[in-house]
Amino acid sequence: MSLSNGSWTSTTMRNGRYRGLSDTKPGIPKKCCCGCEVELRTSLIEPGRKFYICTRPVSIPGPHVNKWWDEAVMEDLLEIKGKMEDQDKQLFQIAMDCGRVDKLVDEVEMLKDSGEKHENKAANEFKIAVVFGVVVMIMAMIIAFLK
Ligand SMILES: [Zn+2]
Repeated sequence: MSLSNGSWTSTTMRNGRYRGLSDTKPGIPKKCCCGCEVELRTSLIEPGRKFYICTRPVSIPGPHVNKWWDEAVMEDLLEIKGKMEDQDKQLFQIAMDCGRVDKLVDEVEMLKDSGEKHENKAANEFKIAVVFGVVVMIMAMIIAFLK
């Protein structure tokens, strides 16, 4: 069925373009809501402009796909754009989370270094105390020996 075979009447044309009773879903239609296949055809009213239309005869009532190809493509592109924006937000959130994890890793490393320094300081103080004790004992022995 094409626009030139007389199956379309003036009531199917509004605002200078053909319209079906209803397009059900946004984007490029895969099948009509009635279950019939959808074809891509070229308009004779707007030469060169393509449109999707249900292969079921228009005389059968009910909503059928009848939408411009460029509008269907735009709807798909807008949906893809929306999904990409959502993914951008998710990626941004993941990047923020990674930044937080990096900060936590840095803090853990700083605490670890601080703990090691504290342990080293305590070990050095213990060594100094032992050496001092040994020196005092030796001096005490020397003094006792000299008496
Ligand atoms: Zn249909």
